[in-house]
Amino acid sequence: MQVDADKESGFCFGVQNAVKIAEEALLRGEKVYSLGDIVHNEREIGRLASLGLITITHDQFSSLKNCRVLIRAHGEPPETYLTAERNNIGIIEATCPIVRKLQARIRKTWIRAREESGQVLIYGKPGHAEVKGLIGQTNGEGILISGPGDISRADLSKPVYLFSQTTMGRSDYRNIARLIREGMRENGVTDPDRLLTVNNTICGQVSNREPHLREFAANHDVIIFVSGRESSNGRHLFGVCRSVNPNSYFISSPEEIDASWFIGKSSAGVCGATSTPKWLIGEVYEYILNLGL
Ligand code: SF4
Repeated sequence: MQVDADKESGFCFGVQNAVKIAEEALLRGEKVYSLGDIVHNEREIGRLASLGLITITHDQFSSLKNCRVLIRAHGEPPETYLTAERNNIGIIEATCPIVRKLQARIRKTWIRAREESGQVLIYGKPGHAEVKGLIGQTNGEGILISGPGDISRADLSKPVYLFSQTTMGRSDYRNIARLIREGMRENGVTDPDRLLTVNNTICGQVSNREPHLREFAANHDVIIFVSGRESSNGRHLFGVCRSVNPNSYFISSPEEIDASWFIGKSSAGVCGATSTPKWLIGEVYEYILNLGL
């Protein structure tokens, strides 16, 4: 049986960058706390914990003093930086540069929008760390749109500046923009594009994976998808593989593989989410090769 590891699977640039920053600080012998899981993958968190990384919650962060805390790729709202300043906490900045730029853009837009009674709308997942960081740029005034049902929370007779969390789906985002335009028309706005600004803020590092994985999954008899169970990106991308190849299996570790999945098959593809480390994909690939099928 032919076995292929997908070369494009593995961490996105932002997560890769954050892990590298954490490793460098740990190698310097520093005591490093990570505010929240650095990546949604238990195996990688375990590896970094063995190097000394201590993951903390936001509650634990509030009571820490005189130490160094790493901000992960998703970023944080301004209050986190204020708390750090108050408690003499040194920040190890590992926010993804793309997210940092987006935060700055939202802040600038929000300041301008206030002058014209406009609103900043953010399409994203409720409770997601990146979304909290983005809404934080608007002093909490930005309106979270998690689906079509939330659009009515905005006043569609006034200017709207629409942004998206970086990892949302492109077609869903386009649909939200379309529904806002429709809602504006219903509110008597004849030319919605005069009032609506749609900012293209979806990150290609994630959205480009989908068409690629669809092709990869279609080109193999069996797909072994490697991801942490907590990763929403993992669940989504696994669904994409499964939709084109029903012989797709979700695993978090090589030991979960059942050799009977490969009976009568001539090719297997190993791939994963943007939160799956490349070394783990390699481990799974080797494991299947060693089955000697
Ligand atoms: S998905 Fe894109 S924006 Fe988000 S952390 Fe990864 S590289 Fe950065």
